[in-house]
Amino acid sequence: MRQTVCKACGAAIVWIKTPAGKALPCDAGQRYYVEKPLTGTKKIVTKNGEVIACEYTDDLQKANGVGYVPHWATCPQADNFKRKGEKT
Ligand SMILES: [Zn+2]
Repeated sequence: MRQTVCKACGAAIVWIKTPAGKALPCDAGQRYYVEKPLTGTKKIVTKNGEVIACEYTDDLQKANGVGYVPHWATCPQADNFKRKGEKT
């Protein structure tokens, strides 16, 4: 896993490889999440590079696991990601 800083906003980000071989920029800090395949409005990227619909939580009892928040969801300069065709 490669760690860099976002060129747009300077935040620490990590690049997580998906099974398809694409690297996704994510916030360096991990978050706990609750899987919500149908209703989740947030996305989490697991260490394996799977993108899961979820809600974030701080409640360890409810959490299904820990993963990384896609940086395009939090970057104040997210428009810079869109032109690269990132899926949201
Ligand atoms: Zn950024």
